[in-house]
Amino acid sequence: MADNLADLEEAARAGLAALGDVSSLKAPQRTKIAQRPMPSQSAGARIRNMGEVALGYTESMARLEAQRCLQCPAKPCTTGCPVKIDIPRFVKAIAEGDDARAIAVIKEESLLPSVCGRVCPQERQCMKECTVGKIAKDPMKSVAIGRLERYVADKERESGAARPPQVAPPTGKRVAVVGSGPASLAFAADVRRAGHEVVVFEALHKCGGVLSYGIPEFRLPKAIVEKEVDGLRAMGVEIRTNFVVGRSRPLAKLLGEDGFDAAFVGSGAGLPRFMDIPGENLVGVFSANEYLTRSNLMKAFDEKRASTPYYHAKRVAVLGGGNVAMDAARTALRLGAEKVMLVYRRTEAEMPARAEEVEHAKEEGVEFHVLCNPVKIVGDENDVVTGMEVLRYELGEPDASGRRSPVPVPGSEFTLETDCVIVAIGNSSNPLVPQTTPDIEPDKKGRIVVDENHETTMRNVFAGGDIVLGAATVILAMGEGRAAARACNARLAE
Ligand code: FAD
Ligand code: SF4
Ligand code: SF4
Repeated sequence: MADNLADLEEAARAGLAALGDVSSLKAPQRTKIAQRPMPSQSAGARIRNMGEVALGYTESMARLEAQRCLQCPAKPCTTGCPVKIDIPRFVKAIAEGDDARAIAVIKEESLLPSVCGRVCPQERQCMKECTVGKIAKDPMKSVAIGRLERYVADKERESGAARPPQVAPPTGKRVAVVGSGPASLAFAADVRRAGHEVVVFEALHKCGGVLSYGIPEFRLPKAIVEKEVDGLRAMGVEIRTNFVVGRSRPLAKLLGEDGFDAAFVGSGAGLPRFMDIPGENLVGVFSANEYLTRSNLMKAFDEKRASTPYYHAKRVAVLGGGNVAMDAARTALRLGAEKVMLVYRRTEAEMPARAEEVEHAKEEGVEFHVLCNPVKIVGDENDVVTGMEVLRYELGEPDASGRRSPVPVPGSEFTLETDCVIVAIGNSSNPLVPQTTPDIEPDKKGRIVVDENHETTMRNVFAGGDIVLGAATVILAMGEGRAAARACNARLAE
């Protein structure tokens, strides 16, 4: 239950009433409407449960927020969206009270609006280009595009109005999909729509990729991901879990002996990177992937029922500044840590995490130790973590990424007491498929090489998402899956 819902609802109703006839509103009046805050659990309440933090706009809030849109003819917001959703058109539909039309517009381009409305780094995409934010000189004050997207997508899902898309008559062609993250889900839906038989092979016991095992329940409820997967099943997509392509069966055999005509590899970037410093093998050091998977996929937080334990720690240090680091830090709080310290070698301005996650982490009490980097993890006589030796940094010249590089300050070492260290400094591509499929060429970083049609060096095998891009975003992965599906459908029609 949102702690601020009643107040926000009253304010939205009053705001709408004050606007009167909205059909004749002019731009200066629209830019004066303040962005609607999101109903949410208070920081004190939410760190004691795994429930979702941000709880979504009500109808009045969505209608008022939609009135802020200036309907810019050049659609700069759409330019900022990786899949080019026609944002002014869907926002106008919400402003006019036609939510069904709004979701139909979004679904022309996005297959996962409930997910992207929640987790897209909007302030760096659609909201970054929004004129309203530009006028306010702050992308966070733009039209709240993702919140509106979430509002209509949730409304459709909760009403049961969503129908599986129509599937063309059977073509007799069979397509194998490796993995079930957003890239694969999007690919599978579009290829199935064309009438091809589709089988998804997923290594884990649950589908969804990072949406299921990485991003925590308090940011993305798993029921939403399950609903998307159910939608694929309803279209006739077959899903085989606990099937590791490259171990259970090589990809070449699926395409040869098993009679698949084409394949898509969406195996993601789930290989954790470590710091390569002394002490990383001590008891109490985890990769963020393992830590989050225990909690999200194995439900370790539900101690009475879960068969997977979690590590009880009082003082937790999380290394990194991205979404994965924020998720790990906020999960540690919910698992009972008394103190959670985020250790990052640059400053907050360089953190790659979504602005909302940084804000939420701070509200919840995560301590930010910026311009710091560990040089050694130390343990006791039983090899259990007791602390970290940390060096202070300052910012030097910009590096290849354009961000100022951190430079160590000699003699600035200090010790941080901690009984658990979670390493969240990035992930590399899952190596198994390229390793076991000699015809598929990876680049030096292990990412699968594809051409402009998303086809790998092996004919009729397409790839997309993090396995091609390196660790990226949900919307980019979904967009890649759709582009690869277009190419695959064209090939199968030859
Ligand atoms: P994945 O989602 O990684 O899915 C790959 C799937 O393939 C997995 O299910 C895996 O088990 C399966 N697989 C791998 N190898 C095999 C095999 N050999 N056989 C069968 N199956 C296999 N992005 C955002 O946009 N916003 C966020 O807020 C955000 N937060 C994140 C938080 C965390 C903790 C993490 C880890 C990532 C986050 N990301 C976020 C990134 C985003 O989730 C990924 O970019 C996206 O999920 C990539 O999708 P994908 O389909 O390429 O791969
Ligand atoms: Fe913005 Fe993401 Fe939606 Fe595109 S998909 S409009 S970037 S929230
Ligand atoms: Fe509306 Fe902003 Fe897009 Fe302009 S840029 S159409 S104000 S959402």
